[in-house]
Amino acid sequence: MSRSEELFQKAQLSIPGGVNSPVRAFNGVGGSPIFIERAEGAYMFDADGKRYIDYVGSWGPMILGHNNPAVLDATIAAAQRGLSFGTPTEVEITMAEKIKDIVPSIEKVRMVNSGTEATMTAIRLARGYTKRDKILKFEGNYHGHADALLVKAGSGALTLGVPNSPGIPEDFAKHTLTVDYNNIDSVKAIFEEVGDQIACIIVEPVAGNMNCIPPVPGFLEGLREICDQYGSILIFDEVMSGFRAAPGGAQERYGVTPDLTTLGKVIGGGMPVGAFGGKKEVMGYIAPTGPVYQAGTLSGNPVAMSAGLAALSQLNKPGLYDQLYARVDQLLDGMQALADEAGIPFTTNRAGSMFGFFFTTDKQVTTYQQATQCNMEHFRRFYHLMLEQGVYLAPSAFEGGFMSAAHSEQDINDTLAAAAKAFAALAAE
Ligand code: PMP
Repeated sequence: MSRSEELFQKAQLSIPGGVNSPVRAFNGVGGSPIFIERAEGAYMFDADGKRYIDYVGSWGPMILGHNNPAVLDATIAAAQRGLSFGTPTEVEITMAEKIKDIVPSIEKVRMVNSGTEATMTAIRLARGYTKRDKILKFEGNYHGHADALLVKAGSGALTLGVPNSPGIPEDFAKHTLTVDYNNIDSVKAIFEEVGDQIACIIVEPVAGNMNCIPPVPGFLEGLREICDQYGSILIFDEVMSGFRAAPGGAQERYGVTPDLTTLGKVIGGGMPVGAFGGKKEVMGYIAPTGPVYQAGTLSGNPVAMSAGLAALSQLNKPGLYDQLYARVDQLLDGMQALADEAGIPFTTNRAGSMFGFFFTTDKQVTTYQQATQCNMEHFRRFYHLMLEQGVYLAPSAFEGGFMSAAHSEQDINDTLAAAAKAFAALAAE
């Protein structure tokens, strides 16, 4: 038995399912999860000392690779000055200014501790500001696990097949309207019915929780128009796509400006951080300037802010994004060629440093239905064949992949060599 298997058995005795977040349990691919001991650059090392090329990057934050020296130094230096004060600190101002600088639609920003907190508060703010109760989300989009948002959700909820969780009163869920992603007609239809009661549309502008599905041309633009027409707030949940789809997120990549943006993952540099921000006028409704309440004992924590700031401060390094995009192209074009050669039905999606691959005969995947109808058996087999060869992919067909600045051309070539063997094995079955 491997050390990871031993640890997993032990973990299950005292932690539900042995994990502190569901997708880590490998339910989507079967088998025992890998316990990681340390990570460096593009690599993670497990409890048995095996090395993996990592395409999960802690589910998105590690855009610079693991243990980035400047992030590590800033974190240690901040920790030495004190772990938490519960008072304002100067680093919070620097962080807010940095976020505003990178994401110009954000005029004011509030820091929180997770993506879940960010989206939960953004919809409360939208409801408070518009004095409306209904919200609109998309099937297969995941916005964290707040009650109102765990309706037809993606990510672990989709992997486990429980997109509507027990424990959420019907009275809450009934305010959450759900329509098809990338289908602007379905949005128009529901707005024609109840548009004057809808506080906000919340959307992943690049969907990353039903695998990776970029917006089709006109989709985000259509959402903007509809929100303007009906006086609803447009929230881009860029917890995943922020700093990844482009430096300024999906809103920069696709040229559509939301009213509110939620952020997470990359802004913490690996520490637990989230944020929501946007138009001054709307943000003015949040406490203490406004009546919509939100607070946090550890919000804007100095160690977390220092880590995040050190990460964000490196993103303007010349050529960094070009390299990220080039590596994604190298990986996905390479995988497509290998799958074609092996005769395995396969296609890929990409948006900046986010990517996804699908075992399907469809040439392009743009919908939730397509993503959920892929060949799961092929995915599971491929997953374990890659894992055995030291390539760590997200352990679910409903999660995307993440490239980091630490991935070298050689890492991609090594990954493709492993993929060649995996596709050949699938073809031989
Ligand atoms: N929104 C999106 C788009 C996400 O991908 C996630 C997490 N994967 C969240 C919100 C929730 O963030 P957290 O897990 O930090 O609560």
